[in-house]
Amino acid sequence: MTNPITRDLFDEVMVPNYNPAAMVPVRGEGSRVWDQQGRDYIDFAGGIAVSCLGHCHPAMVNALHDQAGKLWHLSNVFTNEPALKLAQTLTDHTFAERVYFANSGAEANEAALKLARRVALDRFGEGKDQIIAFNQGFHGRTFFTVTVGGQKAYSDGFGPKPGGIDHLPFNDVEALRHAISDRTCAVMMEPMQGEGGIIPASDEFIQTVRELCSKHNALLIFDEVQTGAGRTGHLYAYQKYGVVPDILTSAKGLGGGFPIAAMLTTQELAAHLKIGTHGSTYGGNPLACAVGQAVLDELLKPEVMAGVAAKSARLKAGLEAINAKYHVFSEVRGMGLLLGAAMNDDYQGRARDFLVAATANGLMCLVAGTNVVRFTPSLVISDAEIDQGLARFEQAVAQVVNG
Ligand SMILES: *Cc1c(COP(=O)(O)O)cnc(C)c1O
Repeated sequence: MTNPITRDLFDEVMVPNYNPAAMVPVRGEGSRVWDQQGRDYIDFAGGIAVSCLGHCHPAMVNALHDQAGKLWHLSNVFTNEPALKLAQTLTDHTFAERVYFANSGAEANEAALKLARRVALDRFGEGKDQIIAFNQGFHGRTFFTVTVGGQKAYSDGFGPKPGGIDHLPFNDVEALRHAISDRTCAVMMEPMQGEGGIIPASDEFIQTVRELCSKHNALLIFDEVQTGAGRTGHLYAYQKYGVVPDILTSAKGLGGGFPIAAMLTTQELAAHLKIGTHGSTYGGNPLACAVGQAVLDELLKPEVMAGVAAKSARLKAGLEAINAKYHVFSEVRGMGLLLGAAMNDDYQGRARDFLVAATANGLMCLVAGTNVVRFTPSLVISDAEIDQGLARFEQAVAQVVNG
């Protein structure tokens, strides 16, 4: 069979769980991507908040080339230099003292949840197994993480679920006070809900979660898969809030487009994952860790982190200017370069129309649910590319508004 490699082939050979755009991208450089026909797109999506240094950043390309000629894989029967170095960097720059590497956000969260359950069992015995999570939260697609996530559309229809998981409204201090107890094993939350609609935790809420977890010997797990790796203008969002979790998960931007994830924790908690209790064939793979190192080395340059705030302000101001003309959003919200434009009453449920129009006008963006258009560009996108992307988005908005 020799079919032409086009979007049509997707429907012939792929499981239909995705609905990719009509065009097929073939090449990327910085914040620009080209499709099979040679049309160019400004990338305000970066995968889904993954390509934090844009496409084919020389630091990442060099790191991958170098490591590709040295050593690809040996499993965790052996450790390797890139993994050790990356773990050292992560512990140097966060609260954490120990690192577990995985390949995806869901896997890092799976490890975090298993660690929390194991710690509770070791310390307090049976019965302390409640996991509290939040409506509209997203933690990945394994069966445990999808059940902890707060969206039934993702978790239902697969038979009996893992138990002991309760969901509360996000940012509701009273609901949490009511639900948490000495039976609580862990609270898992995103410091800012990403998939759920770009909803930052309030200071009061996140501080109260920390207090109540400490009071009830429950572990606080921050899922920073989307908010981490510099996305908010801080290496991790917890640093912006000044609230330290017990366990933190990182993925997406950590590899800048190469699959890698990490679970970070303290030495004391890590000790509960004794030899043989958990593992992964690929976790800590040398190629992935070499790229992750290159990404962190770039992100840790002060000018890169400082640049996020300026670029965020530019993008936000541009979106607000478009809204002042066309009146489609109720607000533009978020932190750093994780921004959401929420539909106003006239455009409820129509975020996807703006995404489709944007793609047609040469701009890649995302949605978060049906009511928010989400923007997660490269953290090193140029001002010129921001402006060009905004101009294209404005054309898209005009087309949606004019029907
Ligand atoms: C994307 C995401 C995940 C899942 O990551 P995968 O790499 O797709 O498994 C988990 N948590 C949050 C907050 C995410 O945004």
